Amino acid sequence: MDIADQTFVKKINQKLLLKEILTNAPISRAKLSEITGLNKSTVSSQVSTLMKENLVYEIGQGESSGGRRPVLLMFNKHAGYSIGIDVGVDYVNGILTDLEGSLILHQQLMLKSSSPEDTKSTLIELIQHFISQIPSSPYGLVGIGICIPGLVDENERIVFTPHSKWKNFDLKTSLKKTFHVPVLIENEANAGAYGEKIFGAAKHYDHLIYASIGTGIGIGIIIKRHLYRGAYGFSGEMGHMTIDFNGPTCSCGNRGCWELYASEKALFQSLQSNNQKVSYQEIEQLAKLNDMKTLNALRNFGFYLGVGLTNVLHTFNPQAVILRNKVIESHPMVLNVIKNEVSSRMYSQFSTHIELLPSSLGQHAPALGMTSLVIENFLNDVTKPQ
Ligand SMILES: [Zn+2]
Repeated sequence: MDIADQTFVKKINQKLLLKEILTNAPISRAKLSEITGLNKSTVSSQVSTLMKENLVYEIGQGESSGGRRPVLLMFNKHAGYSIGIDVGVDYVNGILTDLEGSLILHQQLMLKSSSPEDTKSTLIELIQHFISQIPSSPYGLVGIGICIPGLVDENERIVFTPHSKWKNFDLKTSLKKTFHVPVLIENEANAGAYGEKIFGAAKHYDHLIYASIGTGIGIGIIIKRHLYRGAYGFSGEMGHMTIDFNGPTCSCGNRGCWELYASEKALFQSLQSNNQKVSYQEIEQLAKLNDMKTLNALRNFGFYLGVGLTNVLHTFNPQAVILRNKVIESHPMVLNVIKNEVSSRMYSQFSTHIELLPSSLGQHAPALGMTSLVIENFLNDVTKPQ
């Protein structure tokens, strides 16, 4: 084997060991050798390298199975820090985490306008604030992950955002130049799906659908624990699935799109009278008072979501669906309507095994998804053959 091949194998082994330490820490070298099948001297030398790189450290001593008690290894979650930011229609919601994704700081800023320039300057302000708060550490900021409600292509260029009308906006290159760290750009529903998979309600599922229900509806798809982005990055645009072929025209050009009926925007529109907008708080209050109009609107919201989700479930056959929407998260009644609608429209063999769950991370789901993608990218980089 030539030297290049040896380096490659070492890096592959390091990656494998780091993965096992991340999942099973505290763990001994002997146990690592047992799990990975690598011999003890390989484990020992690669662990030394990971310790030199400040990614792994030793703690006390573990259980002995006879003989000397083994020293246990931990992942050094304070070796670096990651930033995840969710760009909404009129706000940016950011978090700073350690390398295990634990929250260090959270900050939300309102956008002056939804133009690319104003959004970029607000993002820079937020990132600079986070950087100023990062404790001294071997790697410092390891990357920035940003998700947006729109189409992101396979090169992470923002192709189009339906609500703020951005077109071909290369935020990645521009932020990389400013901050000199890796920058990841992702679709918001994909990021949310990943957040729930790593930290939230979907931790224990390998196949799942995440539905982000806001101004529109976006779907994040996880297949075999991996994000499915489609060939060009545009998978999951199911808000534009036709549920009424004679329905009203949508901004996408299609007619009777699902999001015209089942988005949060559609719910709020159905509740406004004389062009007077309603707020979350008003919906809460009116629902508590059993206001008929509000209860009917909530039922319709669940009904239309159930109709479209039935199509999604027939397509993907997931183990779970995570629904990200504040109204659903605070009104179990809506979730019950969705469940009834879905089960009345599907063969029971399909629907009985599918869990329909509200998001457990709420508004932080997309930002947490981004931070975990950044961390994964960093760990892949440090263990990548040169
Ligand atoms: Zn549409």
